[in-house]
Amino acid sequence: MTVALPVRPVPAPGEPLTSYAARLADANGLTRSRVLPAHRHDVDVPAGELDTLAALAGLDPAAAAQLTMDRYPPTVRGQGVTHRGGWRLHFSADWICPRCTPRTGRRELLWQTALSPMCRHCNVLLVPATTAPAGEIVDAPRDLTGLVDELVELAEASITHHSARVRLGRFRRLCALIAQTIDDTWPHRHDSIPPVDEAAARAWGAFPSADPATVAAILVSAAPALHSTASHDQLSREGHARRRGTPTRHPRKYLPQRPPAAPRRPIVAGFNATDSGRLRWFLTQLEHQVARHGIRPEHVPALLPHPDDDGLPNPADWRTRWHSALALHMLLTQTYEGSPSSSRAALAFGAADTDTSRLLDGVRLGRGISHTDAHLLGDAVTVLLNDGLIDYQSRRDILRPITTLPRLPVPASNLPEIERYAPRVLALGWIWTRLTRGPMWTSPFPLVPDRHVRAFNAAIDPETRLALHETGQQLLADTDLLTIPANRATFTGITRRYG
Ligand SMILES: [Zn+2]
Repeated sequence: MTVALPVRPVPAPGEPLTSYAARLADANGLTRSRVLPAHRHDVDVPAGELDTLAALAGLDPAAAAQLTMDRYPPTVRGQGVTHRGGWRLHFSADWICPRCTPRTGRRELLWQTALSPMCRHCNVLLVPATTAPAGEIVDAPRDLTGLVDELVELAEASITHHSARVRLGRFRRLCALIAQTIDDTWPHRHDSIPPVDEAAARAWGAFPSADPATVAAILVSAAPALHSTASHDQLSREGHARRRGTPTRHPRKYLPQRPPAAPRRPIVAGFNATDSGRLRWFLTQLEHQVARHGIRPEHVPALLPHPDDDGLPNPADWRTRWHSALALHMLLTQTYEGSPSSSRAALAFGAADTDTSRLLDGVRLGRGISHTDAHLLGDAVTVLLNDGLIDYQSRRDILRPITTLPRLPVPASNLPEIERYAPRVLALGWIWTRLTRGPMWTSPFPLVPDRHVRAFNAAIDPETRLALHETGQQLLADTDLLTIPANRATFTGITRRYG
């Protein structure tokens, strides 16, 4: 029969066995090995040892069981004696709070897992015990705090609830995939998230990465997937695509299954909760792009580009691309000003605000966005950034008042007349569509059909094409020197001239 020690501290919430044993021994002037074997970790604790410690500390069995990780399912503590394939870190990883651990010895059981790379008491990122106290103390980003609260709750729930186990397992596999493919630009995340140590991230396989800051970045990047199947599938799809062609570092069993191809757009009108979550998510992504690259509504051309385009899009796609451009303009305006404006988008492009579609209605009313459209807009933003942001608004403002063609270095007879439309008008239309990437209905000649400009393009020789291109560039350059804010298009201006 073990007799209780005279001084019996109360276990702190979340306190691990080893840390409690050290406090108990200290309070009674003993070495830790007198109450718990020195080699013991906080998992796989033999029942006899736990009973002895409980008796020494006067704890009831339930309170004693709280001190070890053995009550958690394998999703959290890992499989078998090695504890692989769970949220648990490798035994060699030892995370501490740089603020409270050196002062009070405080530790938490879940600091031994990737579920909590921060001290919720001090609100700072944990550090590996080996780097402290030399390293600087980093505040936990706001996005992380709520997420860790949720993960800790899920871990508790997973003891009794199968659904929580499934969610934690699924989230862990996605984190493992993101760890394999994360870099400075993917997945998009807020600037306040700590930089990623790619080598530490890639080490996430049977065990999570051993670097708390990297784990924090991975968790926050994966966070949208915790609540949205669409976000999960998208991150998983992108992650698998990025992983293709890179050397396989870890067995596939630690990664999520490749999700099915993106779902087709539903036929039903209206938007469900997933669509509305996706719209919010897309706006967050856009905010990151705004913060990172300074993209503005002015950078949107009137026909939204696509990575597969070679020059202007296929005429069959122009309505779709026009609607996508309006939608992106509205969403960018929303990130700057808090609400979308469809009249301002139409005005910016020089058209009337009469178009309607599922995409435009969803964005106008803030109801949601389909998977396909979100992809289309996301891809377009990537193209715009890759091409280097161009102020299409200023190009439109400069070219709109120009209704006479400057003298060209090629004979006037090189310009064909098409369907009785004047060659010089078609030439200006050619310049407009190429330099503003917009259709004729946004140009100073909204009644000239685009097919005539395409026929004109097919009829001119390369020398004339080059001359027109250079003339257009020269018009932009000349006006750039003058910078004419007074020439900015206004709605009244447009109606007066063409209405
Ligand atoms: Zn702390």
